[in-house]
Amino acid sequence: MAQANLQGSNINLVKQHNLQAILLNLLYEPGLSRSHLAKQTNLSNTTITNLIAELIEQGIVREKVANSDEQDMLRPVGRPRTSVCLEPNARFVIGVHIGIGIFRVAIANLRSEIIHSQVYSFDVNSPPPDVLNQIVSAIESTITESSFEKQSLLGIGVGASGLVDFTTGVNLLAPNLNWHDVPLREYLQEKLSLPVIVDNNVRAMAIGETYFGAGRGVDSVAFVYGRTGVGAGLTFKGQVFRGSSKGAGEIGHNAMLLQGGEPCRCGNSGCLETLVSESAILRQAENIARINPEGILATLFSQASDNPPIECVFDAARQGDIQVQKMIEERGYYLGIALTNLVNLFNPELILLGGIFSRGDDLFIKPVMQTIQQRAFGGLGKNVRVQAASFGWKSGVTGAAALALLHFFYQQIEI
Ligand SMILES: [Zn+2]
Repeated sequence: MAQANLQGSNINLVKQHNLQAILLNLLYEPGLSRSHLAKQTNLSNTTITNLIAELIEQGIVREKVANSDEQDMLRPVGRPRTSVCLEPNARFVIGVHIGIGIFRVAIANLRSEIIHSQVYSFDVNSPPPDVLNQIVSAIESTITESSFEKQSLLGIGVGASGLVDFTTGVNLLAPNLNWHDVPLREYLQEKLSLPVIVDNNVRAMAIGETYFGAGRGVDSVAFVYGRTGVGAGLTFKGQVFRGSSKGAGEIGHNAMLLQGGEPCRCGNSGCLETLVSESAILRQAENIARINPEGILATLFSQASDNPPIECVFDAARQGDIQVQKMIEERGYYLGIALTNLVNLFNPELILLGGIFSRGDDLFIKPVMQTIQQRAFGGLGKNVRVQAASFGWKSGVTGAAALALLHFFYQQIEI
């Protein structure tokens, strides 16, 4: 029995809950009058006034002159209309995204806006302690180079690859890195003396989209990310769904081809990941370029440019390479089938495509939508929206920062 809603509450928890409600309202609607806030939160005018006074004293909230059309019932006659808004740079978090062979460290403010970010590469064959030491040094130099006071740093959020136990901060399994039971949180906390929270990197991105991106204000969001791996993060009313073994959203290992599929790194074969990951698409593309050496794709591949190969593939489709268009349409169909299953199970209001699916959103969305509309049960496919996620390359660090913001601020604030 671990249902939080069966437990009692004490006065500090009530205050914490009220502060969360105020801050989330101010996050969603910058510049609210105290009376408007009272109405939105169902709290009394006196409670709002007292809590706002404390937040102003802490520098987390500031007064601003309200729009002239705003009705402020608390405003005594003769006093100027004022509203309050969040001071986004009052506190900061560090977001760390661990990918395959790269990690990114960023500083973000209370809106999860990235103030500074840097990417680092590492050898995927390095033992985990070596990579963790690299991450520690990168965080230390990020903090040293930043201009803000260390007291305004709330903590560190880490989005890690593969299976992560959110409660212990252990990276249970990251097959692409060959990591098993790596105690990320314990290690980073000990070395950096700062609070650390760890989750799966795609789930962290889903949190970032839900609170700070295209999923804001949407009840049920499925964020689907594709790059080396393919995964999904599911949120419902702002809460991320992790599942009983912390593995919810492993859509990349949905069985797609029951026979004749390529082997997957998970040990099975014919998984979604073997069909739509970046390397799966590049394998298909290389075949096309080999068969059509004079084609648009082969020409783009042969030109020396900084364009990553996957971008060459998308560009070839945009420039009219019919073989590439057909191949991406087919990949969109497979992704659409997996998402149809997700729609039937989870019935989300919004599906956000991230990673390579958002880089090529103009090519993927149509076949994905068509498949979902044709295949999902009843009218479920007609009601779901599919669009590109908000943050592009910043997705990982924005998500990791959002994870830290929720955990150390919006859902845990104490003043
Ligand atoms: Zn698999």
